[in-house]
This record gives sequence, structure tokens and C-alpha cells, in this order.
Amino acid sequence: MTKFENADDNEINKFDKVSNIWWDLKGEMGTLHTINPLRTKFIMDAVHVRAPKVLDVGCGGGILSEALAKSGAEVTGIDLSQASLEVARQHAKGQGLSIDYRYESAEEIALKNTGHFDAVTCMEMLEHVPEPEKIIAACSQALKKDGHAFFSTINRTPKAFLFAIVGGEYILRLLPRGSHTYDKLIRPQELKSWAQENGLEFVRLSSLIYNPFTRKFKVVDAKEDVNYMMHFIKR
Ligand code: SAH
Repeated sequence: MTKFENADDNEINKFDKVSNIWWDLKGEMGTLHTINPLRTKFIMDAVHVRAPKVLDVGCGGGILSEALAKSGAEVTGIDLSQASLEVARQHAKGQGLSIDYRYESAEEIALKNTGHFDAVTCMEMLEHVPEPEKIIAACSQALKKDGHAFFSTINRTPKAFLFAIVGGEYILRLLPRGSHTYDKLIRPQELKSWAQENGLEFVRLSSLIYNPFTRKFKVVDAKEDVNYMMHFIKR
């Protein structure tokens, strides 16, 4: 049992168990590596601050945290999977990167560091928590005024069920089986209203669209597809 209220023990255990494959580019986390340059660009193109202070919520093995650090951000990564955090720390060390990885909940860090960050990223994480709206509230609380929030997740539509769960986990093996539960997926409109209720103004939505023939993803602006990313500004 974790001591954290807004965390699902089964989910955390699942990530503890796969923590050894975070950096296996050809393994089942490979998709995160494939989309990483695209999402890093989506984030860094929007943040016009030198050496921005970025909080990466649900950082896992640090795939995004490292890319952000390499792009000049001062990164704090939080996660509740201790095994993943350990992998992240060791990997960053091997890369000569200084990233502050902490075993802390989003709610906790937001209380201690209210209004501290230039940007908060929370990618592929909201669909794994009991109350995603509380994570969004914490992300907003941790941001400075005019700070940037970025969320990405999987849409809850029949197409998403078919492509992300059946196709992604079972046929193409782009993701570990059992990674996602349909009911926990989030529609863009839901994410948008939770964000707006927490003082975040919508800026942009883009989808990451997979081509199974070329095995590449491309970013398509303003289209709600299976995998999407959203950008907000705190007002
Ligand atoms: N953001 C990373 C990893 C996504 S996987 C990336 O995109 O590369 C989802 C991560 O969320 C896992 O590492 C899992 O341990 C973490 N997680 C799940 N519930 C959490 C919670 N309540 N608080 C913080 N992290 C959580």
C-alpha cells in the first residue's frame, strides 16, 4: 500500500515491475521513446523562458525529464514508483544530467512549492490515477502565473480502444499488455474543463498519429485523435 491518497497501488506496482525496461528502446516502452522528440518540441516551443524550472509529474524512468533537461530546463521529476525513480536517477547520472527526482505526490509538491514552476508536464499519467482532476489542480497550483501546463493522455473513444488497447497492447505490442483500462481514458473536453476549473486557459491541442506502415508518429494540430497533448497557460 502506498501512503498516497490519489494513487492506485495496482498501477504503481505495475510500473515498479516494468521499471527495468524504461530505457530499452526496442522494448515495450519504445513508443515513449519514439514520441519523445515530438512531445519535447511541443513543450519547449511554447516555453520562452531561459532555463525554465519544469516539474515533470509521473516522470517514470525519466524519458521526458532527460529530454527537457537536455533542452536546457531545470527539471524536477516526481513519481510514486520508487523502482522507476531509482532507474531514472541512475540513468541521469550516466548521462551527466542533474535532475531532481523525488518520491512525492503532485499534491504534496504543489503545497510545498506553490507558484514555483515555469512549466509542468504530466504526460501519459492521468489515465493511471484515481482522481485525475486533483492532479490537474496540483499542477496548476505548482505553476507561476503565466506558467505552462502540458498534459497528454489517451482519448476514450471506440477508435482509441481499438488502436491503443487492442492494437497497441495486443497486436503491435507497442505497449505492455494491461497498461490501460478503457474507463480510465480521458476525453479532451473532460481534460479541458478540469483544467479550466483550475485556472488554466486552453492554448492548443495536438494529436500524435501513428502510421503502422512507416511505424512513425506525426503531430497533427487541432485534431482530437487517439493520443493527444494539450497546452494550457495559468491565468
Ligand atoms: N511521464 C512518463 C511516464 C509515463 S507512465 C513518460 O511519458 O515517459 C506513467 C507514470 O505515472 C508511471 O511512472 C507511474 O509510476 C506514474 N504514476 C502513476 N500514478 C501516479 C501518481 N499518483 N503520482 C505520481 N506518479 C504516478
